[in-house]
Amino acid sequence: MNLKVLNIHAGHNTIVPGANGYFSETTENKNVKNAVISKLQSLGYTVYDCTDDSGKTQNENLKNIVSKCNDNTVDLDISIHFNASNGQGHGVEVLQYSDKTQAIAQNICNAIAELGFKNRGVKERTDLYVLKKTKAPAILIECCFCDSAIDAGLYNYDSMASAIVKGLTGEVKEIVQPQPAPAPTPTPKPSGDNWVRRLQEELNRQFGARLVVDGINGPKTLKACPMVKKGAKGGITKLIQERLVSVGFNLTLDGIFGENTKKAVKVFQKNRGLTEDGIVGPKTWEWLLKGTKM
Ligand SMILES: [Zn+2]
Repeated sequence: MNLKVLNIHAGHNTIVPGANGYFSETTENKNVKNAVISKLQSLGYTVYDCTDDSGKTQNENLKNIVSKCNDNTVDLDISIHFNASNGQGHGVEVLQYSDKTQAIAQNICNAIAELGFKNRGVKERTDLYVLKKTKAPAILIECCFCDSAIDAGLYNYDSMASAIVKGLTGEVKEIVQPQPAPAPTPTPKPSGDNWVRRLQEELNRQFGARLVVDGINGPKTLKACPMVKKGAKGGITKLIQERLVSVGFNLTLDGIFGENTKKAVKVFQKNRGLTEDGIVGPKTWEWLLKGTKM
């Protein structure tokens, strides 16, 4: 298949939103779609955005998308979605109407699976409205599961978009970020980690830990950290959630250690070779205090 001109759209809209889990499908469909468009454009492809923001019912949304798609003469229609099930399903799949798109659909699946997602493969679906009604060959990418802790821990819209572009075109041009201006003269001594500083304050306030609030991750701070598990509530839990979000998890910062926080802690532990018990004990604190992505 020779690709030069493409339609792409984000599934659903804010009036009739898609699935929800660790993150909102509707929001991430848009983030991935926008990043794919800019990456494809920087490679010289012509791309039309056929996202519909105004349909008030699911049917209207689908009809609007198809009519926008069919206004353009393109080589391929791409629909961006995220899957959801019961929290157990995970991985990428690409749905297609016919095997005309087999090679491209498989390449996209493989490129996304290279990011660590389970490869669920290419599936033929002749019953889906958008795939059926669009004139050009069409594929629907279920990037990963928005209600899977495993997928949420791996997911990042920019790497997802790069994988899609790689699968489509065989190449990826990184968008060059403007470089920050170099710091003048010798930088002053780093003044610690602000998250660690706030944790120290909270440990002093709640437990009378009498730590120096210097933002420095030292042995006294680690020793003062309590065991935190499901059912906990408050400032320490919120700080744990913040740290998990800063390394890539999608969590609500509500200070409540519920099922989602527990699942995220388990993935965090698994990725770091720790016992996956969902309980924040000394080993997990050690990694949280470091605050590194890995
Ligand atoms: Zn969807």
